[in-house]
Amino acid sequence: MINVLITGSSSGIGAETAKVLEAKGYRIFRTGRKQLDIDHYLSIDLSCFEHAKMLYENVIQEFGSIDILINNAGEYYYSPIERVHDYDIERVTLLNLTIPYYLTALCVSQMKEKRFGRIINISSISASVGEANASLYAATKAGLFGMTKSLALELAQYNITVNCISPGWVETPLISDINEEDRAEILDVVPQRRFIKPIEISNLIKYLISDEAKGLTGQNINLCAGLSVGS
Ligand code: NAD
Repeated sequence: MINVLITGSSSGIGAETAKVLEAKGYRIFRTGRKQLDIDHYLSIDLSCFEHAKMLYENVIQEFGSIDILINNAGEYYYSPIERVHDYDIERVTLLNLTIPYYLTALCVSQMKEKRFGRIINISSISASVGEANASLYAATKAGLFGMTKSLALELAQYNITVNCISPGWVETPLISDINEEDRAEILDVVPQRRFIKPIEISNLIKYLISDEAKGLTGQNINLCAGLSVGS
């Protein structure tokens, strides 16, 4: 049995990915902020070290190991820089960058011992193309690139791959409060004139964790309907 921890899997990309991987026979541990009455699920705030440690210990207790870690939980944050509060900087950085790093650190020893591991970090296209008023979000998501490349090198000899996916605009609850006018403006600059569906990200994750993708490590893949190359 291959054990997978997907953070932020109570909705959107994470929930879809849990469904897709479960159908492939992986054993999934889910997390989210919602209270859900399902097995192998923890409702948890991942902008805090204590909760992240508690999550890791829970999964190890239930599954014995984490073979695949998908750092997906994240928060979009939009504000001109001068209006960003110190507590928001702390929370968003913890959730989007620090805790993914910490969870990875907790999982790596066992992956090294087993000589198998897959780590996927869900970043964002905002990290590489830049987005006005989203500098905090972009900075935290760009941090995942550096972590991905360095860890790919450090862990290559242990059959552990580390990759990043940078989605463009994906149709999930994260963007559900954008009004119709703004949605039309967004689509105007997306070359394919459409939002990505969560399943497209899930299928890429399914490939990246498969044996067929074992040679693919240290990469960032933009899954963004063409947004990264212009409009
Ligand atoms: P979503 O809002 O549907 O899901 C986010 C998940 O993260 C949920 O399960 C939520 O409970 C969890 N989460 C949020 N804050 C948390 C916290 N403080 N503690 C614990 N869990 C928390 O959004 P989504 O679109 O599926 O986002 C998934 C990832 O994809 C995020 O990292 C996001 O930055 C990234 N992303 C999304 C888009 C997009 O357009 N939707 C684009 C680029 C990147």
